[in-house]
Amino acid sequence: MTSPASVLDLAAIRADFPILDETLNGQPLIYLDSGATAQKPRVVLDAEIDFLTRNNSAVHRGAHTLAAEATELFEDARATVAGFVGAAPDDLVWTSGATAAINLVAYAIGNATAGRGAPASARFALAPGDEIVVTEAEHHANLIPWQELAARTGAVIRAIRVHDNATLDLAHAASVISERTRIVAFTHVSNVSGIVSPVAELVALARAVGALTVLDACQSAPHLPVDFAELGVDLAAFSGHKLLGPYGIGALYGRSEILEALPPFLTGGSMITDVTIDSAEYLPAPLKFEAGTQPVSQAVGLAAAVRYLEGLDMGAVHAREQDLGNRMIAGLREIPGVRVLGDAEGVERVGLASFDVTGVHAHDVGQFLDARGIAVRVGHHCAKPLHRRLGLTASVRASASVFTTDDDITALLEGVAAVRDYFG
Ligand code: PLP
Repeated sequence: MTSPASVLDLAAIRADFPILDETLNGQPLIYLDSGATAQKPRVVLDAEIDFLTRNNSAVHRGAHTLAAEATELFEDARATVAGFVGAAPDDLVWTSGATAAINLVAYAIGNATAGRGAPASARFALAPGDEIVVTEAEHHANLIPWQELAARTGAVIRAIRVHDNATLDLAHAASVISERTRIVAFTHVSNVSGIVSPVAELVALARAVGALTVLDACQSAPHLPVDFAELGVDLAAFSGHKLLGPYGIGALYGRSEILEALPPFLTGGSMITDVTIDSAEYLPAPLKFEAGTQPVSQAVGLAAAVRYLEGLDMGAVHAREQDLGNRMIAGLREIPGVRVLGDAEGVERVGLASFDVTGVHAHDVGQFLDARGIAVRVGHHCAKPLHRRLGLTASVRASASVFTTDDDITALLEGVAAVRDYFG
């Protein structure tokens, strides 16, 4: 059997990422912070520069040839990115990122609750006492928008618990999701443990009670083959900058009948068929949700990122990164005084692990590794409830990408072992 590392040509991949030629504190850069934001291959940088140099123009308006070219590239980008996540082009709404996508849904549901939108949108209306179910493992981006929606509508937030090893407690999920549940919002992959959630089980529980499912795919879309239609979720969000793409772009996926029925959130130019002084008629989805000038060059850059990943094969990327994640965890377990968050056996995961070094603050660990050229994330990773549940305020997170080598992981493990020696 071929090992995952040999399927990907690591030397060729590394040559595609200009930033890997940089040094950090005089050391070769070992970038283990892709979970926060991914580095970009040259094809992505070139695609954006090329668009801005040769095709830049306002899309969806203007009769001139340049505008038509820009519109074609923008809509091609939508089709490419949609295809990457198993969606039809019209089922993909551009947003500025995952946070914006989740807020879009929460505000759209708030508008439906206020009686806005076509008659079909009434099905999304929330009443006091209705329940929005999240998990203890959510990033704040998939928690606070629901808290705000609950505050506006009188709905109640309920959370599925995690076990001590950070896996979701499915028995608890089955008791929390009930006839009162209207929305189940959960992450596909935890940005703290790197563990893949049991999507099929949660979707089945939500469907059985007619609840809407919202998937946070920020940490999955860049690292494993993702097909939202096959996963059966109603809505899903992801960010371009974590997907080897530019900043300022992301997407909301929605099943077409859901997007058709949801009222818009932001309103303004480019999303209407007709406007009078008193009222407006909206374009069909996805344009109904894309008010104002869109991140056009960023969409073109994101399409280049997605094509790059497809060229590597997402199955191979996942196998390789899962292997790296398992190596990280196995190595961290061996270091005395190191606790891995999400130390679960036999689970599917990505190449991301968070850990705590007893008696040493995460920031000190991060600085110590930084001096060795190793870039990691420290803090609560925008997941305070999960850290609190695991008895911590902060942790260190190392996250791999397609260019991460076995030597990078060895350097990390040696660095963490040295932290213990240094701080005693
Ligand atoms: N959800 C998860 C799981 C994340 O890891 C992040 C980013 O850290 C987000 C949501 C928010 O993404 P963005 O800040 O790109 O909107």
